[in-house]
Amino acid sequence: MTRFVVLLIAAYVVYSLVRNSLKGKPPENNVQHQKAKKPDTVVAHVKEIAYVFYTATKDDDTCDICMELDGKHMLPHHKLLQQIKPPHAGCKSHKGCRCTLVYVTRDEDGSREIESLLKKHGGMCDRKIIERNRIG
Ligand SMILES: [Zn+2]
Repeated sequence: MTRFVVLLIAAYVVYSLVRNSLKGKPPENNVQHQKAKKPDTVVAHVKEIAYVFYTATKDDDTCDICMELDGKHMLPHHKLLQQIKPPHAGCKSHKGCRCTLVYVTRDEDGSREIESLLKKHGGMCDRKIIERNRIG
């Protein structure tokens, strides 16, 4: 009986190998293929990134819009991220947008807590909410 099961598994493995080679792309290569196709590094590394936050220069030349965005925390796939990605069109500063996005990876301390907090808040929080919920 056991031998029969082993044979069945072997037959299935062979079957799926043949099926995949017929399609011309085995599953492992398929994932890499998709990654390589995406030019945006944000999307490609989305698995390692816990969250992203916006940081403005905060001097006299920083416009209201950038000031307002400063400290905003977002999940890496948030749709607003592409719109506000600095330098963004909404910036009114005569020096141009000098803001940056900071990408925080999951191996960073406390990043997972912030990530789950963001999930609870629909993917975006401002600095106040983050600081209120930060432990310690
Ligand atoms: Zn800006």
